[in-house]
Amino acid sequence: ALPVIAIVGRPNVGKSALVNRILGRREAVVEDTPGVTRDRVSYKGEWLDRRFTLVDTGGWEPDAKGIDASVAAQAEVAIDLADVVLFVVDARVGATSTDEHVVRLLRKTDRPVFLVANKVDDARQEPEAAALWNLGLGEPFPVSALHGRGVADMLDAVFTKL
Ligand code: GDP
Ligand code: MG
Repeated sequence: ALPVIAIVGRPNVGKSALVNRILGRREAVVEDTPGVTRDRVSYKGEWLDRRFTLVDTGGWEPDAKGIDASVAAQAEVAIDLADVVLFVVDARVGATSTDEHVVRLLRKTDRPVFLVANKVDDARQEPEAAALWNLGLGEPFPVSALHGRGVADMLDAVFTKL
């Protein structure tokens, strides 16, 4: 079976944009308003001749338990089936309480976790990405899913674990 890379994070941080950037094609639906999407969840990708399955957790609807519980539940499913987890945070917003919920789950997994600081479209947002060291998940990888900045370096690091 192909290695599985799971992308977790709360709505609107840019998970679908990152899926498209990694795939090199627009397959996931990027939405300006957070919330319900009919997005697909699983994609086949290739990076420098390495094939993999990409799982985007954003396709599930928030349930009655509220946003924290539903994001955490989705993350838990994804973490279980993943070989490597990409945890996406919006560097411009910083870590929210929902992000902290996911962090607690991620601390418990033995899978490699990469902290992806998205929306670093230019160098001015680098300090905001660096602030995410505070999450205790190691080095934040500053990327711009929208423009591609930093994504190759992040993926190079990911594939050392696959
Ligand atoms: P998801 O809910 O986590 O899947 O987030 P989406 O991929 O749908 O993106 C949510 C919003 O953030 C959209 O308006 C995107 O255009 C925007 N976005 C995603 N990635 C970036 C980025 O790297 N830079 C900026 N400036 N905006 C981004
Ligand atoms: Mg999405």
